[in-house]
Amino acid sequence: MRAMVLDGPGRRLHEAELAAPEPGAGEVLLGVAACGVCRTDLHIVDGELTEPKPTLVLGHQIVGRVLAGGERFGEGDRVGVPWLGWTDGTCRYCRSGRENLCDRAAFTGYQRDGGYAQLVAADERFCFAIPAGYPDLQAAPLLCAGLIGFRTLKLAGDGERLGIYGFGAAAHLICQVAVHEGRRVFAFTRAGDEETQRFALELGAEWAGDALGPPPEELDAALIFAPAGELVPAALKAVAKGGSVVCGGIHMSDIPQMPYELLWGERVLRSVANLTRADGEQFLELAPRVPVRTEVETFPLERANEALDRLRGGEIHGAAVVVP
Ligand SMILES: [Zn+2]
Ligand SMILES: [Zn+2]
Repeated sequence: MRAMVLDGPGRRLHEAELAAPEPGAGEVLLGVAACGVCRTDLHIVDGELTEPKPTLVLGHQIVGRVLAGGERFGEGDRVGVPWLGWTDGTCRYCRSGRENLCDRAAFTGYQRDGGYAQLVAADERFCFAIPAGYPDLQAAPLLCAGLIGFRTLKLAGDGERLGIYGFGAAAHLICQVAVHEGRRVFAFTRAGDEETQRFALELGAEWAGDALGPPPEELDAALIFAPAGELVPAALKAVAKGGSVVCGGIHMSDIPQMPYELLWGERVLRSVANLTRADGEQFLELAPRVPVRTEVETFPLERANEALDRLRGGEIHGAAVVVP
């Protein structure tokens, strides 16, 4: 099969012909129809996540069709493969409904080969049925930007005035969910990024402006999707007493030193790690009811490096998707 392969940190992906994966017990073999590109893929390429398998196929927002294997899905079924690829089911986290924190978890496109390829094998217990009504390309970003964005939103509580910092793939989906829930959304972007600010307003945000500038009013909660540590004190400063700041990314640059006063008043700062299968089921049931509209920019598989470059440069409108 054709795949884009990462040989080590700091390298470009290269096109390669790999042996077709052989599905083990309980695994399905999928023909990949589309695979979303995630900020996490960049963190892996850059060596900021330090435990990838040595020769790696990236990609953890996979939409594919079942070719063989497993019992849960039939041949030809459309299936989604997310970041959480396997858990042990036995550790204290798995046994307490927190499989996202599993000590031995294996992640798709990190410790297991992912979807920047024509074929992928996945543990069927961690796959999702894709809601009808979403074409393959539009469904792909739901599988990480959507799922992890949704978990981030849930952990922020149900405050009405919601700030979203970094308006990329996750934010453009979660903004729609938040508006559907009756919240008021304030979008914080890079200074002067008028195109993204316009995009946020189109998706229902009532205000869009500079992330490091003052908010138009106090927020009840803030979600941070951009991997920039300086947004943490900025968001804490923007939330009211008792408000939450939730960091939705897997990696962030260092958080600058800040006065305790920013956290005082029972403000809460927390991260979100991975997803549970329950998050996925819940979000994929909700998305068509909102309905969440996904804006995608597509790249043929062999141009995956270009997709990553454009994501790095903040040039992607919505979400990038590679198509084998
Ligand atoms: Zn992701
Ligand atoms: Zn576990």
